Amino acid sequence: MIEINKLHKSYNMGSSSLHVLKGIDFNVEDGELVAIMGSSGSGKSTLLNILGMLDNADDGTYDLDKIRIENLDEKTAAEYRNKFLGFVFQSFNLITYKNALENVALPLYYQGIPRKERQKTALIFLEKVGLRDWATHLPSELSGGQKQRVAIARALASNPKVLLADEPTGALDSATSIEVMALIQKINNEGKTILVVTHEHDIAKMCKRIVHLRDGVIVEDKKIKQNILKNV
Ligand code: ADP
Ligand code: MG
Repeated sequence: MIEINKLHKSYNMGSSSLHVLKGIDFNVEDGELVAIMGSSGSGKSTLLNILGMLDNADDGTYDLDKIRIENLDEKTAAEYRNKFLGFVFQSFNLITYKNALENVALPLYYQGIPRKERQKTALIFLEKVGLRDWATHLPSELSGGQKQRVAIARALASNPKVLLADEPTGALDSATSIEVMALIQKINNEGKTILVVTHEHDIAKMCKRIVHLRDGVIVEDKKIKQNILKNV
């Protein structure tokens, strides 16, 4: 599903440059649930942003579902992003003046899907994350865990090949984090390929494989015995 080879990324900092990813080799098969672990500043978000086509690598190759991702113009990149990828962020990134249903339906609007169908699909995905009854509520009326579940429904609504989550539990208390991870496990068990960036070992253990980044290199990459959570 994902194949990257000798990936490098530096940030220009005025006259100097910061080498953040230093030759990453990394493959993800269909249906995996991978934790990308590492301390703050190790390059996790940089890697995820490149995988998510939000940023470009300087060197190396990236293939997503056998499509070489390189030199894409902004329009094509956006099109691929909408079609192939779902994003979940620590800070939820919901639109504050739109209700839960409208937030989930929004990516479908950008795909040109008619209004009725958008609403129907959005409701199906809200139901999947257990929030059908909260469809007409604004983000400000939802708890942190509920907001993240709306964000997950939104990411799934366009049926992406891969779900990319950057510290999805970073803003949640531990009980709520477990609920969100149980939902992520459920979605993975249904076949979705998911990458979860985290700096917490407990969260990483809820995945099926841990890739450990340190200073822009993968220092460890191993399949683990997954800590399976009770379903929500
Ligand atoms: P992590 O997500 O593991 O905390 P990041 O990938 O966000 O790490 O950052 C890796 C390093 O790159 C850090 O030193 C960070 O300060 C730096 N960095 C991240 N984004 C930028 C940017 N847009 N410009 C300059 N430096 C950046
Ligand atoms: Mg980060």
